[in-house]
Amino acid sequence: TEACLTAIEGAGALNAFVHDSADLAREMARAADQRIRAGDGAAMTGIPLGVKDLFCTRGVTTQAASRILEGFTPQYESTVTQNLWDAGAVMLGKLNMDEFAMGSSNETSVYGKSVNPWKVDDRELTPGGSSGGSAAAVAADLCLAATGTDTGGSIRQPAAFTGTVGLKPTYGRVSRWGTIAFASSLDQAGPMTKTVRDAAIMLGAMASVDDKDSTCAEIPVPDFEAALTGDIRGKKIGIPREYRMDGLSDEIDALWQKGADMLRDAGAEIVEISLPHTKYALPAYYVIAPAEASSNLARYDGVRYGRRATLGQGDGIVEMYEKTRAEGFGAEVQRRVMIGTYVLSAGFYDAYYNRARRVRALIKRDFDQAYADGVDAILTPATPSAAFGLGDMAQKDPVEMYLNDVFTVTVNLAGLPGISVPVGLDGQGLPLGLQLIGRPFEEGELLNHAYVLE
Ligand code: GLN
Repeated sequence: TEACLTAIEGAGALNAFVHDSADLAREMARAADQRIRAGDGAAMTGIPLGVKDLFCTRGVTTQAASRILEGFTPQYESTVTQNLWDAGAVMLGKLNMDEFAMGSSNETSVYGKSVNPWKVDDRELTPGGSSGGSAAAVAADLCLAATGTDTGGSIRQPAAFTGTVGLKPTYGRVSRWGTIAFASSLDQAGPMTKTVRDAAIMLGAMASVDDKDSTCAEIPVPDFEAALTGDIRGKKIGIPREYRMDGLSDEIDALWQKGADMLRDAGAEIVEISLPHTKYALPAYYVIAPAEASSNLARYDGVRYGRRATLGQGDGIVEMYEKTRAEGFGAEVQRRVMIGTYVLSAGFYDAYYNRARRVRALIKRDFDQAYADGVDAILTPATPSAAFGLGDMAQKDPVEMYLNDVFTVTVNLAGLPGISVPVGLDGQGLPLGLQLIGRPFEEGELLNHAYVLE
């Protein structure tokens, strides 16, 4: 814990940690020492972690990287973080992210951008997003692991951009209670770690059956680490042909081939599969996620949480809402709220929201079919490129940023577990990741496949 706290102090330029809780960390570390001395250690006793600013942490500022939650200090602890502390982990502080987890570059944060520790000729690169601070902190050894959340790729894409491992569990594996909601039917928290084994251990600690989240599955949490045998002989790995998109770079293509070869060498069978509705996933996601976000973010009105705008003479409650939300939410969040409100409005609900939900069902069915045909895991690239430059997207259309999620959003729409594993470097020496997608609630099996790729 002391080593991490020192490293954090020296790494201000990465802007990964945004609220430190050093005193609390030391106190938790001492308690962990005592636990170990008493022979009462658990899976993560004494392991110093960073926590994405989306998780409510009792007594420690939690802002979802938004101005609107300025000064918000939760009175309660999210289930995920409580589970980690119960397992003995130590909280180092809160990590930077895109505002309300909306973004792919960590540039929409009220704290400013987080920076990738990987560089090309001193050019500053994005650590990805929205869990950019988590990825940067793990990659730069500021913590042993971090929590992330993934609604459309926010664990897997930053992991790929920083050479770390990021796991999005099956929807319902991890409780969402106390995690600030973005899009409730898609959000899942997961571990961001240096190794697949760490991901297995940390998922085991994060996951639980939880009455406080009605979408949390009543499925017992197995020993994920025990599943890491490295034996995948006879397993069937699907390569979805629809992911071989126009303009896929040769580098990504070669990486994908390398991953398939590694799995084949370990005794798996590689088969081509079809997921025919893949091309509709991105548009469906960018209807459903903003729709749910517009509803979830309605609660930030200046009455109950965080910041309230200064009001002028004669301003009433409507002006308070309007001014608070106008100055409290950044541009990307406002864009999502507007899109979401529009697609849910009476005249457009059927044309947009309902249609997107039908598309979602078809995407899920594609995966169900592949698994029914005997596929054990699906291998795809995690991202269309390596980390891009900070500021590169700023001059562009927001849709270009959305395209970064092309390989990851399908997994959230279908509620499946997905993991990003670092498998190689691009021509500039930057890390590239591959994604494995597993069967629902078979994270152990998924991790075991990832273990072979590591
Ligand atoms: N980049 C996607 C978005 O902006 C995904 C974000 C996430 O997974 N939280 O919505």
